[in-house]
Amino acid sequence: APTPNLIRATLFPGDGIGPEIAESVKEVFKSAEVPIEWEEHYVGQEIDPRTQSFLTWESLESVRKNKVGLKGPMATPIGKGHRSLNLTLRKELNLYANVRPCYSLPGYKTRYDDVDLITIRENTEGEYSGLEHQVVRGVVESLKIITRQASLRVAEYAFHYAKAHGRERVSAIHKANIMQKTDGLFLKCCREVAEKYPDITYEEVVIDNCCMMLVKNPALFDVLVMPNLYGDIISDLCAGLIGGLGLTPSCNIGEGGIALAEAVHGSAPDIAGKNLANPTALMLSAVTMLRHLELHDKADRIQSAILATIAEGKYRTADLGGSSTTTDFTKAIIDHL
Ligand code: NAD
Repeated sequence: APTPNLIRATLFPGDGIGPEIAESVKEVFKSAEVPIEWEEHYVGQEIDPRTQSFLTWESLESVRKNKVGLKGPMATPIGKGHRSLNLTLRKELNLYANVRPCYSLPGYKTRYDDVDLITIRENTEGEYSGLEHQVVRGVVESLKIITRQASLRVAEYAFHYAKAHGRERVSAIHKANIMQKTDGLFLKCCREVAEKYPDITYEEVVIDNCCMMLVKNPALFDVLVMPNLYGDIISDLCAGLIGGLGLTPSCNIGEGGIALAEAVHGSAPDIAGKNLANPTALMLSAVTMLRHLELHDKADRIQSAILATIAEGKYRTADLGGSSTTTDFTKAIIDHL
């Protein structure tokens, strides 16, 4: 049974560097006295027939019950007869929006100092619907599915997010001039939702122009909402603006108020088990989870400690040009709490 006054959250340490960086998160949370009790679930050794995946039914149930969780990277084992782990999670938990905050880290110099934007990606359809086939030899077809239901749902989430976080502008990113029906419907849904939020400025930006604007002056944007494929690309572009995938957190929002935070990077097999991984992305993902739970004091405290450690520059992992181990860097964060 859950300990009174503690919030239960599911933790998937994941594969590769996952367990090492998950350990860092647990230690920092413990030192910051975050009122969370982790329910740990590992990727199984064999396929669970109930999920047709190495993820067990119990682990999915844990997220459904707790409604919050943190996920480390998962390497999908090669073989037949099972689904990708990430796809299983996305489909089974109906994780319809992927939210990626992207802001300049003070003290870690990149081309820009003033990036502060949020990308919100539709996560269930578009070009990633998995509907591809050959029409005749030499001709293949891929279906891009856009539905009113999924578009309204992600647009609602984007405006809700903007309002809840004191953001001023939502930009819908599209190519409706060419994809008139699909992106056209997506925009129509965004407009409908925008009408309910008169305090938030709404604009529509064509994807190619958006890319140019982002690399020239990222401060032009605030919250960006877009269909699946564009979101996949633009969110990595944004990560590049602030120093790469080792630093960027994300959070998946699912049906019934589920929030499953995850680092964007993979299991980094080349450095796994060597105490070299940078736990920042997973730790900042855990911070987005705390914000979802409205534990803002704890979130601020941990986020400040991470940023202070990176800014100080004394302890940095190799990916940021330093020579610290995962455990030394984690200890430095705890010292900054
Ligand atoms: P990767 O992100 O694991 O690694 C790319 C490079 O970045 C490597 O050199 C790695 O050492 C480095 N890197 C990544 N995270 C780091 C960190 N926290 N600290 C320091 N360095 C870091 O990408 P990949 O090699 O293409 O994929 C490896 C495995 O991860 C594959 O099995 C892939 O399917 C899986 N993957 C999972 C997810 C996920 O669970 N969301 C995402 C991407 C890839």
